[in-house]
Amino acid sequence: MSQYESRLFINGELVAPSKGNTFPLLNPATSALVADIPIAEEDDIDRVVAAAEKAQPAWARLPARKRAAVIRKFADLMDQNKDRLSELDSVCMGKPLHDGLGDVQEACDITNYFAGLVELADGETSLNSADTLNISMRQPYGVVASIIPWNFPTMIWCHDVIPAAGAGNAVILKTSEKAPLGGVLLAQLAFQAGFPPGIINVVSGPGQTGALLSAHMRIRKISFTGSTGTGRAIMQNAAKSNLKAVSLELGGKSPLLVFDDADLPKTAAAAVKSITFNSGQICTASSRVYVQKGVAADFKKLVAQLMLNLRLGDPTDAKTNMGPQADSKQAAAIARFLEAGAKDGQALVGGKPALEAGENFIHPTVFANIPDKSKLDLEEIFGPVMVLHEFDTEEEAVRRANDTEYGLYASVFTKDGSRALRVARALEAGNVGVNCTSPDGAYELPFGGWKASGIGSQKGSTAVLEWTQAKSVYINHAA
Ligand code: NAD
Repeated sequence: MSQYESRLFINGELVAPSKGNTFPLLNPATSALVADIPIAEEDDIDRVVAAAEKAQPAWARLPARKRAAVIRKFADLMDQNKDRLSELDSVCMGKPLHDGLGDVQEACDITNYFAGLVELADGETSLNSADTLNISMRQPYGVVASIIPWNFPTMIWCHDVIPAAGAGNAVILKTSEKAPLGGVLLAQLAFQAGFPPGIINVVSGPGQTGALLSAHMRIRKISFTGSTGTGRAIMQNAAKSNLKAVSLELGGKSPLLVFDDADLPKTAAAAVKSITFNSGQICTASSRVYVQKGVAADFKKLVAQLMLNLRLGDPTDAKTNMGPQADSKQAAAIARFLEAGAKDGQALVGGKPALEAGENFIHPTVFANIPDKSKLDLEEIFGPVMVLHEFDTEEEAVRRANDTEYGLYASVFTKDGSRALRVARALEAGNVGVNCTSPDGAYELPFGGWKASGIGSQKGSTAVLEWTQAKSVYINHAA
């Protein structure tokens, strides 16, 4: 029997899946069995939708301040359970414990921010038509769903569930098969905080469980965070079923531009952190770096040295900078990119799995002399692999940076303020860093992708409104 709770959380209760099917979850740092994870099947999904439908109207009728108070209590409980939440993410997907604590802190902060927004999620009025007062109301969808990935399981759980429930919806979240445990504890804490039974439900399982949600006829909105390929499948299912509203937070292939007047040591440090934090498993990671030719040699030396200084190993050790990749499938996929990189260009540093650290570890890597149309430049690697290019002019750098189907995050490093603004404006991405890069961001601003990186946004002042529908009401008051 595992020491970790992994059951489904439906209607305020921990329950086994109807057919009793499970799959094994292994710790990627040690390959030890962590827990058997339940697979939610069609009748489990129908059961959870029915419970959510029953619970939602009374929850939506509560005054916003009461829903906000429950959210604030939940943030306090998360704060009290920081160590446990960080441990659960770490045993599932290998994140160093100290980084996990940072994620949970950010989840607490944004949850409190959402609580404030719940009390402000109002519509508009107008007196523009003669004899008519026009008002718009913002009302919840009813039953909504969220499907999340494994790279920031606690934070992304909060990005969807809290604004959705805060707006008065009942939520069904599917955890990732690679990091399902934190989601179950979060559901228990939410229940303890005062969310009524049926308002926050958590199910687990593979992609097929997610497909049951995206195709369900009584779920009215779905939010998905994950790969672009899966996002397409979800949109197709939504279109083929009840045309539920869809919001998508997808993959990236983020460019970072270094001009010859940039502060090179600071830029190199930011670039290395961006591609190695969370073992490079971040949607916004600066994976394509473009350096102006005059400073390219110095920049390469700085980046290589910083990467060599990183310590790979046990995620529970406070001195570890990088844990393993999330599982053996993820490590094998990155290893295939490393083989392709060795054929298409040269590794300045790394370029191979770090088997001395463990089965699923990869050395931080920089490839140079890669053609722009190499798969290393076009596809999301989702590992600690930077592809470094050189450029001559600003126009060339912007054109090559934008030559991608993705548009999630881009960054520019320069001391020339006019150029910084010009380039920030020209980059085709939903987020742009000036003299900073991912993971830097601000939760009070909307976060979303352009092009094939997404549809809609999370966070920011509209986060709760995203989970409501507008209804316009026209009131004739002619005498
Ligand atoms: P993934 O697409 O493989 O899986 C994400 C989730 O979708 C999992 O819960 C999975 O079980 C589920 N799923 C898989 N197939 C499905 C289907 N056919 N129908 C419904 N659900 C299905 O992605 P992943 O490997 O978990 O996460 C990594 C990806 O997520 C990367 O591409 C990364 O860039 C992206 N990501 C994006 C953001 C963002 O905010 N834009 C944030 C984090 C991660």
